[in-house]
Amino acid sequence: MARVNCSVNNCHYWAQGNECVASEILITSDQFGADQPDSWDAPQSARTPVSPVDSCMETCCKTFVPKDSQEIEDDNVFRTK
Ligand code: SF4
Repeated sequence: MARVNCSVNNCHYWAQGNECVASEILITSDQFGADQPDSWDAPQSARTPVSPVDSCMETCCKTFVPKDSQEIEDDNVFRTK
């Protein structure tokens, strides 16, 4: 995955230097992200419907999961380091 810079340091996939170390991530619209369960994530990207938005304020990282969450294993995404 290309380097993903992220400042959301309470995410399970965040690492020092504001680096995302997830194996893959899914960026989608806020609306789609809100409508889907935690299990719908990057591994389902090929089946994810396109979701145009009007500004960056309407997008989200669907892969975000808080550190120590019980849902970390739900999406088949893993930390690469
Ligand atoms: S999964 Fe998303 S929110 Fe979490 S560190 Fe990576 S880019 Fe940031």
